[in-house]
Amino acid sequence: MYYGKIKDWDIADGPGVRVSLFVSGCRNHCPGCFQPDTWDFCYGKPYTDKEEGFIIDAMNHDYIQGFTCLGGEPFEPENQPEVTALLRRIKRTYPGKDVWCYTGYTLERDLLPEEGGRHTPFTEEMLSYIDVLVDGRFVMERKDISLQFRGSRNQRVLHLAKMRKEGKMTAETFEAVWWPVEDRKFQ
Ligand code: SF4
Repeated sequence: MYYGKIKDWDIADGPGVRVSLFVSGCRNHCPGCFQPDTWDFCYGKPYTDKEEGFIIDAMNHDYIQGFTCLGGEPFEPENQPEVTALLRRIKRTYPGKDVWCYTGYTLERDLLPEEGGRHTPFTEEMLSYIDVLVDGRFVMERKDISLQFRGSRNQRVLHLAKMRKEGKMTAETFEAVWWPVEDRKFQ
């Protein structure tokens, strides 16, 4: 896996102060994407144990609320094994911190069903570590800069932790639960 950047102080991609990783490679190719350089699976630098250690160390502060993985596309099959390993280590090391992830894919269509286009042997475990998933392609015609944590109105901020707890996380029982935001402008 390659990555474009790691932020050890990110206040834009989820609540509070976060550590974030921008992985490389994306086949969504949304028109109007603000970072097309990251579509290339070899964009940036190789992701190694050194980067993983840096992320774990950077999260070891009380002011860090959690971790966000974005891209590029974390759910491309090539990226899922290393992202899963990283999220597993984060959740074991910091069980009280939250994990957010951004994907251009749609949860119930591409990730949950075994025949989903991006479902791999790693997908379920990867999803199990994610508290909030922002899903859906960026759609230029539905761009809205007033939205919190998403770029276009079709995208969703899904509360996966709550969906798992309420049994709404399988392809058969899928029911979207939005992450509650006081001042959200979802409609
Ligand atoms: S999913 Fe994200 S990175 Fe990929 S093309 Fe769409 S906006 Fe760009």
